[in-house]
Amino acid sequence: MIQAGNNQQVVDTLKLGQLVSASKLGLFVNAVVALALGYVQSEVAPIQDVLAWLCLAGIVVVYRAVWMYVVTKNMPKYEHQEIKTRLTEFQISMLISGLVWGAAGYFLLTPEYPQHEIFLLFMLAGISAGGIVSYAADVPSAALYAVGVLSPLFVRLLWLDSQFSIWMPLAVLVYLVFMIQSLRVTHHEVMDNFLLRIDSSEKESSIKDGEYRYHLLLEHLPVGVFHLNAQREVTFCNQRAIDILHGAEWLKAGASLDQFDDAEMLASIASAIEQGETSKYEGVFSEQPEQWVSLLYAPMKNLLGHVSGGVGIVQDITERKHSARLVEQFALQDALTELPNRRALIDRLQHAIDKHNETKRDIALLYIDLDNFKLLNDTLGHAVGDLLLQQVSKRLTQGLRSRDLIARAARIGGDEFIAVLEDLSLLPETALEQAMLVANKIINKLHAPYKLLQHDYECTVSIGLALYSDSQGNVDDFLKHADIAMYDAKKTRGVIRVYNQEMMDLITRKDEIKRALINAVKNEEFDLYYQIQVDANKQPTGAEALIRWNRPNYGMVPPNDFISIAEETGLIVDIGHWVINQACKQLSIWAKDSTKKRWSIAVNVSAMQLLHPDFPNKVEYAIKQHRINATLLKIEVTESMFLENTDEVIQAMQSLQRIGVGFELDDFGTGYSCLQYLKQLPLRQLKIDQSFVAAIDVDINDQSIVKTIIAMAKGFNINVIAEGVETNSQFELLKEYDCQHFQGYLFGKPMPINAFEDFIAQSLHSKEGLSFYNA
Ligand code: C2E
Ligand code: CA
Ligand code: CA
Repeated sequence: MIQAGNNQQVVDTLKLGQLVSASKLGLFVNAVVALALGYVQSEVAPIQDVLAWLCLAGIVVVYRAVWMYVVTKNMPKYEHQEIKTRLTEFQISMLISGLVWGAAGYFLLTPEYPQHEIFLLFMLAGISAGGIVSYAADVPSAALYAVGVLSPLFVRLLWLDSQFSIWMPLAVLVYLVFMIQSLRVTHHEVMDNFLLRIDSSEKESSIKDGEYRYHLLLEHLPVGVFHLNAQREVTFCNQRAIDILHGAEWLKAGASLDQFDDAEMLASIASAIEQGETSKYEGVFSEQPEQWVSLLYAPMKNLLGHVSGGVGIVQDITERKHSARLVEQFALQDALTELPNRRALIDRLQHAIDKHNETKRDIALLYIDLDNFKLLNDTLGHAVGDLLLQQVSKRLTQGLRSRDLIARAARIGGDEFIAVLEDLSLLPETALEQAMLVANKIINKLHAPYKLLQHDYECTVSIGLALYSDSQGNVDDFLKHADIAMYDAKKTRGVIRVYNQEMMDLITRKDEIKRALINAVKNEEFDLYYQIQVDANKQPTGAEALIRWNRPNYGMVPPNDFISIAEETGLIVDIGHWVINQACKQLSIWAKDSTKKRWSIAVNVSAMQLLHPDFPNKVEYAIKQHRINATLLKIEVTESMFLENTDEVIQAMQSLQRIGVGFELDDFGTGYSCLQYLKQLPLRQLKIDQSFVAAIDVDINDQSIVKTIIAMAKGFNINVIAEGVETNSQFELLKEYDCQHFQGYLFGKPMPINAFEDFIAQSLHSKEGLSFYNA
């Protein structure tokens, strides 16, 4: 059986309703049967008894009718408690009503008239059975009624003095038990009926709720939704869909698919219906203002697998499309200058090359690099640097707007810009002229003064120019050629260089050297040459150590051919340590020779080597390892080293000076000499550059420079050595100017250590004693 559970109130309400509605017929039957009974029994029973009983029955009927009227009227307002009270009232009224019928059985029974007796018994049996069936919804009501009807009869029959005195009441009792038993069964059926009604009404309302929610949802969805049926007619369409599609009349309920206004959307839906699979479509719905929509159409299938309609979802994707376009734009744009970035440049260049392959018109690439940009960044800060880049971009784009050239500037990182000049002449010479014209225009524009916040600023740019007719490769090659030309322009700065094969060869050679140098370090392919240094009496005071690379199959490579590459690759750090170790080893050998034990060795170091955090420790280690006098080791530095990282350079020098190592300023006079350095630096000696010595006996300017250097050094209490001394007249003049130390071919060329030792020995034993000759 179905459980009533929490629905007790509903069950009780249904029960009361059922009892009230059963009472309507019941009361009518009661009244008719009572009248019939009264009439029939009046023939045999005392009339006053019959009338009294009819009165009683009438009162009960009237009371129940009034009660029924009141309850029917107020039932919808009843709370559960009131329902229960009404039920109790009903049960009591049923007991009374039953007893009134029972009274008929008791008082109006006439055993002496068997026909009337039987009639009465039938009436009572019928009335009780009818009550049981009618009021089975409430067991107490039905049972009380039946008991009320039958129990007075039972008592009356029990007292009746007849041969059936025991059987008749027994029959009534059995009948009553049977009635009660059938009441139970009927009651269960009625209850099941109630619960089924409750259950189905709950289901119905939950379906209704679901439908309501579904429609509410559809109406308030941020996307448009419509339904089509099997006949391709619109059965539903939410407001959003109509709004998105600008009040589309053709989408309103009842419209057919063929009336759809947008051909592409229609085609997409038709294909989904045909193939029975979801279709997706994105497209422009209206041009002005531009509006994009997406449509997803999912067909629904019936049990046979036939398409029986479907659901369409419409979205306005204009914003998404616009932001995707923006993202794409950003991906191709440099954020700072808003110029196309490297990716965009490569696309553009590829496009230009494809076009060139058809038209044969030349393309030029200008690789533009700002000179000294790093210095600006370091001194005035990155914000000012950024300002310069922005102003340069502006000038570039303005400068490139030309009638017959499609030109584009692209910032490809840092301070580098690229201009692509398309549609140049078919003839390479003319194309080059055209490109040079633009390049010169750019130089002029970019060299003009800038105003960066409160700073006035001027800068130069270096431009590398490459023509596609010279390159004939892919985008990378073309860019590389312009880059190589720019690199070449950088050597001079502020100029335009056109790419040529020699530049490429130089780069290739450099690459080759780089790779060979890596092996040279591993295989120790270096040699240290020594060049004698003397005093005014031509007495040797030591030597400068000069490196040579004994490159297999190439012979001796001079340092100028590989030092810069070693610096670029960082290999100079290892090479430099090797030099210092060799020099210290040589000093330790000389220390054991009484004639050479005071000789010094000067070694050249590069900025990168000097700035290496390990440099002072390694030098100190070498000095200790070879147990040499640190003051005999001299380190040659150049002025350019102090341009950047001045403090770090001085720190490194000071920490070595503390252990006795001496420093010498090489190539003095060629750099950006600043007297400020001389005071700050722990220098022991200045080396007058050979360029001043070369023409000293003829050039008055050089003479005065050399004289000034010597006088100034004296003022600072620093020694002076002149290098590149080749002739006696140079030597004599320098001596006259009070120069004390000398180095040059006049005294000896740089040579390997064995040759150097032999040369010294020969000189010492020569007739001239301590004078040297050209080796
Ligand atoms: P530098 O330090 O100015 O060396 C002097 C250069 O002038 C040497 O060239 C030397 O051979 C040359 N020279 C010497 N006397 C005369 C002369 O009377 N007339 C002429 N015309 N030239 C003379 P080298 O040996 O080719 O060295 C070139 C440069 O290489 C050096 O210039 C130095 O800057 C660098 N270098 C040499 N060895 C090393 C090293 O071990 N480490 C580093 N970092 N650089 C080195
Ligand atoms: Ca030197
Ligand atoms: Ca020098």
